[in-house]
Amino acid sequence: MDIKIEYTKNPAVKPDETKLGFGKYFTDHMFIMDYDKKNGWHDARIVPFSNLSLHPACTVFHYGAEIFEGLKAYRKADGSVQLFRPTENIKRMNNSADRLCMPKLDEKDALEALLRFVSIEQDWVPNSHGTSLYLRPFMIGVDEKLGVHAIDKAMYMIIASPVGSYYDKGIDPVSIMIETEDVRAVRGGTGYAKCGGNYAASTRAGARAEEKGFSQVLWLDGVERKYIEEVGAMNVMFKINGEIVTPELSGSILPGITRKSCIELLKNKGYSVSERKLSIDELLGSMENGTLEEAWGCGTAAVVSPIGELEYNNKRYTVNGGKIGEITHYLYDTLTGIQWGDIPDHMNWTVPVPKNK
Ligand SMILES: *Cc1c(COP(=O)(O)O)cnc(C)c1O
Repeated sequence: MDIKIEYTKNPAVKPDETKLGFGKYFTDHMFIMDYDKKNGWHDARIVPFSNLSLHPACTVFHYGAEIFEGLKAYRKADGSVQLFRPTENIKRMNNSADRLCMPKLDEKDALEALLRFVSIEQDWVPNSHGTSLYLRPFMIGVDEKLGVHAIDKAMYMIIASPVGSYYDKGIDPVSIMIETEDVRAVRGGTGYAKCGGNYAASTRAGARAEEKGFSQVLWLDGVERKYIEEVGAMNVMFKINGEIVTPELSGSILPGITRKSCIELLKNKGYSVSERKLSIDELLGSMENGTLEEAWGCGTAAVVSPIGELEYNNKRYTVNGGKIGEITHYLYDTLTGIQWGDIPDHMNWTVPVPKNK
């Protein structure tokens, strides 16, 4: 793929690595590629980071034609930079595109774009422990007409933001509220697609939970409000009476790459992992009779987030005495070890980013 590169004349001063937070700072450049029905994807370019100028009738503004991905570039101890399973993100974006009638990317070109872009921005990958460069590929529909139809014109972009360690004060169990009113997704809807609309619909429950002092909500299925689905924007796993359980991918659950990686690591280690339906009654029962040993969320941002407390209909339950469990610890250490290159990658999950010239 031919990628035109225009370097910025005003490189930004890099932010203090101890105050990065999440998604506040952006790098000097961005990747853009255009699509229309006649020409397909064309005009791939890396240009100085700037505002966009778009026609106010663009589909993205009215009908939510937006899909995105999230992955990170990690700095290894030897100074080199690597990505974690980027092809999985590209495949998932194409599944999201299919659901929202948006154009698919060529997998090889999309990987090349990602590697070329990170290669150019590699000085932006922070060095401190636990920090990374968060990459946000996204696609928007830019048809300039108000009729509702499949997308004929689109833009694909990648922006990047240096982010701090998710756990500033060490990995710490969180309190979660089980949401009984709003639902995130239903089967047949867009739950399995990574699209902005899912986030718009789940903001209210998240805001209410935050008001009450919880860090996330645990979502139940949209039809019966009976089966566990996800926690906030993470997948969720439990260890109940020795069995590791995670909700099966039913169509309303986002197929997380961290989820998939956890399952593969656990199976390799000889644990059995059940991808099955888990009802709220079974979960509450396991908390009441003390068989719930561990609970954790998993996703790219936090990697693994231990759950220390769950609330359902104003009743609070403590998980594992509010402490981090053994499996949770193992997954966190192994995944972060592979991602930052501190332990060997026997799974062949990492992809090195080439040096820029
Ligand atoms: C992105 C996302 C996840 C986690 O996926 P990863 O690939 O592990 O980062 C889980 N749930 C939702 C709703 C998401 O948007």
